[in-house]
Amino acid sequence: MGIEKIAAVCLAAGQGKRMQSNVQKQYLLIEDKPVLYYALKAFQNSPVDEVVLVVGAGEEEYCAKEIVERYGFTKVKAVVAGGKERYHSVFCGLTALEKADYVLIHDGARPFLTLEIIERCIAGAKEYRACVAGMPVKDTIKLADDDCNIESTPERSKVWQIQTPQAFSYDLIKEAYTILIKQEEEGISTSIPVTDDAMVVEYFLNQKVHLVYGSYENIKITTPEDMLVASAFLKK
Ligand code: C5P
Repeated sequence: MGIEKIAAVCLAAGQGKRMQSNVQKQYLLIEDKPVLYYALKAFQNSPVDEVVLVVGAGEEEYCAKEIVERYGFTKVKAVVAGGKERYHSVFCGLTALEKADYVLIHDGARPFLTLEIIERCIAGAKEYRACVAGMPVKDTIKLADDDCNIESTPERSKVWQIQTPQAFSYDLIKEAYTILIKQEEEGISTSIPVTDDAMVVEYFLNQKVHLVYGSYENIKITTPEDMLVASAFLKK
């Protein structure tokens, strides 16, 4: 058996409307560097062999020059355009990827990715075929109905907030996403919106997905106050 190839799809497309900024959140600066720089840096200094960067349509050249080339991210082998929803962008990334054994899918809007988290995800993917980073929740979580009434209260110790990377055997995640996109093309919709990768393999392939620890700092930059938190983490 040859050496196993580990790839990553780093997502940086989408509008980021909740950020209320003219500049897309992945290009906002934290301590002089764009948000997207930090995750790519973590992949560059990790066992990941190859990265596909997914950006907004029309931003490919800008990103290739101003981020990939500028900071010397030699592991980025392709910069491709994403799609309307996150799951479309993931499919674009997986399609651009030449065959790999394992693939980590990561939100470029999560700058505090570390080598330790990457390593835990790779180990999890190798052992379980599907694994995602997350953390036990600190707050009590409630499920609400359409009228904003509480429907139920899951036991807190069993509730995790899910982050990225989400790591999979390449064949598994490619198959699951291929089914999802094919169904969409045929006009068949899923019962709930697809907001992460784990649910695609859970739903279409009935695959068990293992949880590994991310970190409480592995936040996704989503709303303006996240930038303050991010800059505080970085200064630390
Ligand atoms: O929208 P949200 O903040 O949850 O996005 C999570 C990640 O998915 C971000 O890194 C964003 O750049 C990416 N995304 C994408 N394509 C979309 C929507 C979001 O690559 N259409």
